[in-house]
Amino acid sequence: MSGDLTGGPAHRPEQFDAIVVGSGAGGGVVAAELAERGRSVLLLEAGPHRSAADHMRWEAHANHDIWFPVAFAEPQAAGEPPVPLFRGRCVGGTTTVNTKVALRPGAEDYEKWHAATGLVGDGGEPFGEADLLPHIERVEHRLGVRERSDWQTCVHTVEPGFRALGAELEPVMSYTDPNCMRCGSCLQGCPTNAGKSTLNAYIQPAVVGAGLVLRAGCEVQRILIDDTGSDRAQATGVQYTGPDGEPRRAGAAVVVIAAGALGTPGLLLRSGVPEIAGGSPSSRQIGRNLGFHAARLVAGLFAEPQDAHMVYPISAHCMKFQRDADGGFLVEAATVQDPIGFAIGVCDERGLPMWGEELAAVTRRYRYVSSLLTMINDENTGTAFLDERGRDRYTCNFNERERERLDRSLKFAREVLEAAGAQRVLPTGVVSTHLQGSCRMGSDPERSALDSRCESHDVARLFIADGSVVPRTLSVNPSLTIMALASRVAELIDADERGYLTGARATQPAPA
Ligand SMILES: Cc1cc2nc3c(=O)[nH]c(=O)nc-3n(C[C@H](O)[C@H](O)[C@H](O)COP(=O)(O)OP(=O)(O)OC[C@H]3O[C@@H](n4cnc5c(N)ncnc54)[C@H](O)[C@@H]3O)c2cc1C
Ligand code: SF4
Repeated sequence: MSGDLTGGPAHRPEQFDAIVVGSGAGGGVVAAELAERGRSVLLLEAGPHRSAADHMRWEAHANHDIWFPVAFAEPQAAGEPPVPLFRGRCVGGTTTVNTKVALRPGAEDYEKWHAATGLVGDGGEPFGEADLLPHIERVEHRLGVRERSDWQTCVHTVEPGFRALGAELEPVMSYTDPNCMRCGSCLQGCPTNAGKSTLNAYIQPAVVGAGLVLRAGCEVQRILIDDTGSDRAQATGVQYTGPDGEPRRAGAAVVVIAAGALGTPGLLLRSGVPEIAGGSPSSRQIGRNLGFHAARLVAGLFAEPQDAHMVYPISAHCMKFQRDADGGFLVEAATVQDPIGFAIGVCDERGLPMWGEELAAVTRRYRYVSSLLTMINDENTGTAFLDERGRDRYTCNFNERERERLDRSLKFAREVLEAAGAQRVLPTGVVSTHLQGSCRMGSDPERSALDSRCESHDVARLFIADGSVVPRTLSVNPSLTIMALASRVAELIDADERGYLTGARATQPAPA
C-alpha cells in the first residue's frame, strides 16, 4: 500500500501546521503527538505502508521491501573494511524492523552530550536526566515497556560463560507486549503487533483518532526555504515525489525532518542550508560527527541445538562494561541473524569471510548457534556527505580508543562463549544499526547544527527529530532516547514560544 491513505487531495496546494519527513522512531512520535494536540500534520514517508498482516518470516523479501539497501561507511584508514549500515524503509521506519530493546541513557551519556556541544536544558543547567525523564516516561508508558525474563535455551547456554568471567546477565527492558509468541521474526516486522513500533503505537492511532495525514511512498527531495526577507531564512514546506513519480509541494508553518541519521544530513545539504547560511559554523556541522555504536555479532557453535532463531531475539544483556572507564561496551544475549544474514556475515576465527565447504558446513549448523551482540561507545568519528554526483556517502575513521573497545568487546564475547562450552567462536565484521549524531543539537553553534530545541541555528521553523540530533553516541540502544527527544520536540513546537503556529487548533489538545 502506498500513496495518500486518507483520501486527501493529491495535487492541490496544501498547507499544514507541520510537515514531518520520515516516520521512524523520531518522525512517528513527533507527527502523532502534534496531531493529537490538535495540529494539522502531514507525515511523508519514502517507504511503503505495511502492517502486521503483511509481515511474515521471509527474510529476502523483507530486506527488499521494508529495508533500505545496505549502505557502507567508507574507511579512511588504508586496509580497513567498510562498515555496513542497516536501517528500515517503511512506515514506522527502523522501529518496524528492530528488536525493541528499550534502555534509558546513563548519567555518563548526558555528561558527554554537554561536553560535546555545550547543550543546556530549559533551566540553563547542563542538559541532564531531569530534562528528558518526563518524555522518556511518557514514551515508555505508550509503548508498554516491560522486562523480558523469559529466557530460552540459547540464553541459558551462554549465561554460565558470563558468570565464569565474573560478569552477570540481566533481563532487558523491551517494547514487546505479552502476546509476543517468540517467533524470532522481529527483523521482518512483527506479525502479531506484540512488537511495538511507531506505526502501531503512534501513527495508526493518530491517523484514525486525530486526523494525522499519512502519505507513504513519498520521498522528500528538498526542504523549501524562503531566504528573501531581511530576517533569518525560514522553512516553508517541502518538495516531494509522490508514488506516481510526480513532483509535489506542500507548505507548513514548521517543517520537521526525521529521515534518520543517514538521510537527514543529505536532505539539508541538497536543500542548500549551508549556502543559505553563508557557510556558518553551525551549517558546517551538518553531516559531521556521525556515530555508529559499532557492533559485532559473535556466534558460538554449540554441541546441542540452540534454536536462537525461534526466540524473542534479545532478552538479556551484560551492562558491566557500559561506562568508558569500565570498558565502554555492552553485550546482548542471545541473538542469531536470520539465515541469509548469518551466511553472509559469518567469519572464521581469524575474522576472515568463509567460502565453499566450510561456509556450507557452518551454515548447516545454524540451529546450534547462540550469538552475542557487542556494541561499543564510539566517539562520532564518521561523516555523511554528498559526493560530486549528489549521492549520499558516508565515512568511518575509528580512533585508538574506539579500536581498543572493539578489540576488548570481541575478546570478552569470545571468552564468554568458550567458557560456556562453544566448540567454535565465529564473529562477524563491524556493522552499525544504531546511527546517530550527524546533525547534532547543542547550545554552542560552533559545535552543533541545531539549537537545544532541535531547531536549525540557521533556518527558522526547521526542526530535526531523529537519531541525527543525539550530540554524542549513546552507551545504550538509542530508540527510546530518540523517541523521547522527538516527544520533547513535539511539546516545544506545540508550545509555540516563537509564534510559528498562528492557526487555530483543529481539535482540543489531547496529549498522549
Ligand atoms: C536490526 C536492527 C535492530 C535494532 N534494534 C534496536 C533495539 O532493540 N533497541 C533500540 O533502541 N534500537 C534498535 N535499533 C535502532 C533503532 O531502531 C534506530 O536507532 C531508530 O529507529 C532510528 O530512528 P530515526 O527516527 O533516526 O530513523 P528511522 O527509524 O530509520 O526512520 C527514518 C525514516 O525516514 C524515512 N526517510 C528517509 N529519507 C526520507 C525522505 N527523503 N523522504 C521521506 N522519508 C524518508 C525512512 O524510510 C525511515 O522510515 C535497531 C536497528 C536495527 C537496524
Ligand atoms: S518475537 Fe515477538 S515481537 Fe518479535 S516478531 Fe515475534 S511476536 Fe513479534
